Amino acid sequence: MKLFNSLGRRLQELEPLEPGHIRLYTCGPTVYDRVHIGNLRTFMFEDVLRRTLQFHGYRVTQAMNLTDVEDKIIAAALKAKVDIETFTAPHVGSFFEDLATLRIERVEHYPRATEHVAEMVAMIERLQATGHAYRADDSVFFRIAADQDYGKLSGIDLDQVRRGQRVQSDEYGKEDARDFVLWKGAKEGEPRWPSPWGPGRPGWHIECSAMSQKYLGKTFDIHCGGVDNLFPHHENEIAQSESANCCPQARYWLHSEHLTVDGEKMSKSLGNCYTLGDLLDRGLSARSIRYLLLSVHYRQQLDFTFDKLAEADRALKRVDDMRFRLAHGVEKDNDPARLEQAAGDFETAFAAALADDLNTAAALGALFTFVHEVNGLIDHGLPAGGRTRVEACLGRADEVLAVLDAAAWAESTEAGGGLSDAEIDALVAARSEARASRDFAAADRIREQLSEAGVVVEDARDGSRWKRS
Ligand code: AMP
Ligand code: ZN
Repeated sequence: MKLFNSLGRRLQELEPLEPGHIRLYTCGPTVYDRVHIGNLRTFMFEDVLRRTLQFHGYRVTQAMNLTDVEDKIIAAALKAKVDIETFTAPHVGSFFEDLATLRIERVEHYPRATEHVAEMVAMIERLQATGHAYRADDSVFFRIAADQDYGKLSGIDLDQVRRGQRVQSDEYGKEDARDFVLWKGAKEGEPRWPSPWGPGRPGWHIECSAMSQKYLGKTFDIHCGGVDNLFPHHENEIAQSESANCCPQARYWLHSEHLTVDGEKMSKSLGNCYTLGDLLDRGLSARSIRYLLLSVHYRQQLDFTFDKLAEADRALKRVDDMRFRLAHGVEKDNDPARLEQAAGDFETAFAAALADDLNTAAALGALFTFVHEVNGLIDHGLPAGGRTRVEACLGRADEVLAVLDAAAWAESTEAGGGLSDAEIDALVAARSEARASRDFAAADRIREQLSEAGVVVEDARDGSRWKRS
């Protein structure tokens, strides 16, 4: 399996430190608000990575941190007159809810920064002992000049970062403007933890260095995040961990490109900063959102539009329709060679696409070639055992995609409001009327509504039939 390593900027064969086992660290959310669909794009990429590793037979141990202490959180909690734990609790809750809605697998560890301050203090002390950190007033800074390797991930030209440039008021006392904070002395009214430098709180970067080491070891396999994490966050993590431990922190660094909306960067002022809740409130389907987030390779920007979401719906419907036909198709005493060829080609192409730096777009391409083939086979009559063979292929692909099982998604939607038989009859009748009056958009909307509730409609000459899937 090949992955694009940002460290060295090249495709590299994945070689785990321990055979058959991958230790993976993924930077998690800052829990000061509900995450937006951009954040979810990154978490989806990491879910595809995790599932692909498992698909290829690896055991995965993954940690994703929750940043639950940080400037924005402190300011917002102070404003709301609550402690940071009370302030962050609902955002932690909505984060896990969003992951579950999108079927992002739960990982082994979700460490919180506030519960690992002792580990961070220990690492800062070690950096002080090796001359990589120094105290200035109540704070501690990382001394970039003491780290010859600094910049190896991002390739940043340190001379471009002007020495002596204006520094933030709480960072006076730094030896060099480029140095970054490891420990911040507490200010009036701020949350604080005891330390050898007096009460204070950790900087953001040290969090991930300390927690990745605790859960995955001093050197682990893969470290991920969105492209904005590459510099300075990941560069600083490398500086801290490698200066403290004298060994590589992670062997592969993977970064996903950002999500934009209608070609623009998401921002509160443009009103395009959607959360998953915003999209679901508009009646959009979580399953289609997952599909859309999957459909673009992680190293390409994903431009989110409502049209693309509608396309995602149509793509899924092609699979659903084929499955419906498959369930009702007749198996005959036909030559199994054509189906075997199509199934084998699909399995090979799907696995190869994912092994090629998680090329989900190509994996979906292989899926639709297969869907097309199977539709042709159903027309001619499937060979004996054909249905089971096709379903097995789809089930295996869905271990990574987790979008193909319409029934499973419908069940989860149904929890929010199932339809009675009479309601379904009424909707099916309304759809037939819409079709008769050639209002196909309305007919499609009703079909989608039914499909979301786990109802499949089949059109025949003598009218439309439905069943719960
Ligand atoms: P944050 O809560 O800001 O630390 O972000 C959590 C994760 O979301 C990080 O890995 C970021 O790189 C990622 N992220 C932030 N904005 C976007 C975006 N617009 N598109 C994709 N990923 C993003
Ligand atoms: Zn991090």
